[in-house]
Amino acid sequence: MYVSVTKEEDLIAWVRQAQTLGYPWRVLGGGTNILVADVGVRGLVIENRCRGHQLREEQTLSVSAGVSFAGLARRMARDGYQGLEWASGIPGTLGGAVVNNAGAYGGSVADVLRRVRLLEVEGTIKGREATAAELGFGYRTSLLKTRRAGVVLSAEFAVGRQDPKILSARVERLDEHRRRTQPREPSAGSVFKNPPGDYAGRLIEAAGLKGERLGGAQISALHANYFINAHQATALEVAQLIQRARDAVWQKFRARLDLEIELIGEWDESIRLALVN
Ligand SMILES: Cc1cc2nc3c(=O)[nH]c(=O)nc-3n(C[C@H](O)[C@H](O)[C@H](O)COP(=O)(O)OP(=O)(O)OC[C@H]3O[C@@H](n4cnc5c(N)ncnc54)[C@H](O)[C@@H]3O)c2cc1C
Repeated sequence: MYVSVTKEEDLIAWVRQAQTLGYPWRVLGGGTNILVADVGVRGLVIENRCRGHQLREEQTLSVSAGVSFAGLARRMARDGYQGLEWASGIPGTLGGAVVNNAGAYGGSVADVLRRVRLLEVEGTIKGREATAAELGFGYRTSLLKTRRAGVVLSAEFAVGRQDPKILSARVERLDEHRRRTQPREPSAGSVFKNPPGDYAGRLIEAAGLKGERLGGAQISALHANYFINAHQATALEVAQLIQRARDAVWQKFRARLDLEIELIGEWDESIRLALVN
């Protein structure tokens, strides 16, 4: 089942209902960082389209989790609030960005997030505020990702004042860099996390797999950590290509690549294990 919600009370009601019935459920934002099995997902998927934001105090911005993260970053720069310029090219929602501790160009959610309003789902379902420190942020991860401990309803950011012209110029520079270095074809962004002291894209390229194709899936010829849907790729083809890259990098460099994207839905257990172990 797939529902799309635009009001927070509906989001909460669906989660409560699913929990009460013992029905598997998951909240999605933009779905930009996931690979969904071809046969789909068993249970309820709730697409969060709850959008709204307000300036709580002069230096705190409070934003609903369904807001576009890149849109927010751009609007803030245009309105003269600094702190999120690095995020102007990150697709998806604020909720997904918090869960993944999204980041780019030296910035990350953990650096600017003050607190979140959560729907806690471990044990009883209840709303509560959590500080950034409680969320256990790491490189592209958080306790919300590893434990699926709650649903992000909204988040508060620390923002500072700056000349909108300076901020917009910064955003434009980063946009230009992204356009030059990242493919435009459909993808889920970086497939692997960068291993300590190295880059997943560099390793895959050095293993000779840049541009490699499997069915409709392809390792981008522009950036080897982006796997693109070149022509009606199935999720299985993308997964097999991921496995090929992972194996090649291990064989050649003994470097282990861990997934940044998440596998969602009814995956064959052998494929899931090959990609996450
Ligand atoms: C072209 C491209 C470029 C990218 N560049 C970057 C980059 O530079 N840096 C970067 O960090 N990422 C990047 N990404 C990855 C992705 O955009 C980010 O991880 C993004 O923050 C995911 O947001 P989302 O709303 O799409 O999350 P989804 O993919 O919808 O969900 C991701 C996870 O978060 C959970 N989730 C979503 N919303 C909530 C919520 N409200 N409460 C609880 N759980 C929730 C989901 O269940 C899932 O586990 C890129 C992706 C693409 C396609």
